[in-house]
Amino acid sequence: MLVTSESESDSLKHVAEIVFLSPHLDDAVLGAGALIARQVAEGKKVAVWTVFTGTPPGARPRARFRVFCSYDERFQEDERALSLLGAGYRWLGFGERIWSEPPVSNSMQLFRTPKSAASFENLAAIAETIEKLLDHQGVTIYAPLGVGNHYDHVEVALAALKVLCARRAFSRLLFYEDFYATDAAARRRHFVTRRLTWGPFKASGWASPAVGLLLRFGAWSARGPGIDTYLPEVACLSWSCKVEPVGEFEVAKLDAVAEYRSQVSAIGGFGKLKSYLRRAHALHGGELIWRADVDEAAGSKEKQPPSNEK
Ligand SMILES: [Zn+2]
Repeated sequence: MLVTSESESDSLKHVAEIVFLSPHLDDAVLGAGALIARQVAEGKKVAVWTVFTGTPPGARPRARFRVFCSYDERFQEDERALSLLGAGYRWLGFGERIWSEPPVSNSMQLFRTPKSAASFENLAAIAETIEKLLDHQGVTIYAPLGVGNHYDHVEVALAALKVLCARRAFSRLLFYEDFYATDAAARRRHFVTRRLTWGPFKASGWASPAVGLLLRFGAWSARGPGIDTYLPEVACLSWSCKVEPVGEFEVAKLDAVAEYRSQVSAIGGFGKLKSYLRRAHALHGGELIWRADVDEAAGSKEKQPPSNEK
């Protein structure tokens, strides 16, 4: 297993072949846990790098946010979950929206994005981390699409998309759907997932109305610009979706999801979440992975790292 607790420069010497960027401790597994398990079974070195895992010095979360900010407990959950999947991990230590200004008083405000991308405090540093990863030949990155408009998810997705556009790294920077994308309203709001939607009678929420309503409430709370407003060129790219069947690896994913106990109980409990996820997999045919491309007629090619870099 790849465990990257060394300094950044050391850890970059030991990057996995495949790195999933996860805004919070659980997002990559919720969105692509079966794909991770399959890639590991195929003999690939896979790691999940979770972005928002840091607490500012002296900061104390409001009681209602303690379930999200109890990182010591969540680190243990992450270790157990990724151990089940056979993936390594790294915690990047950025501070999430809960800690920044203006203060948020309830969790629904977390689904509000700022007027200007300049307000994303960590955007440049996250993008730099992704750039450094891409400098390593042979590394493939999976980033979240930022569906659902959660501030932290949008910040990671925007950083990845900025790098995608700058480096033209279309074959090496792919995107998985955030858990929020299982809600139809959230899908319709996002510039990529609105291309693939289903009627209300197929909704995953029928498997668990409690989970479905929670996600719909989040979708209704979304305010502020979408990613394509911050970075209009991403809407001009050609986006295609690949269904990654979950197959026998659905069990491993669900077992891993169950390890994120603190978050699973906040969503409604594992029984409900399991039913919900299984219906979502059945509806989608598996987990949905997106990649961008440009029109070949435009003449753009992927930029390779400079030849003197290792
Ligand atoms: Zn999240």
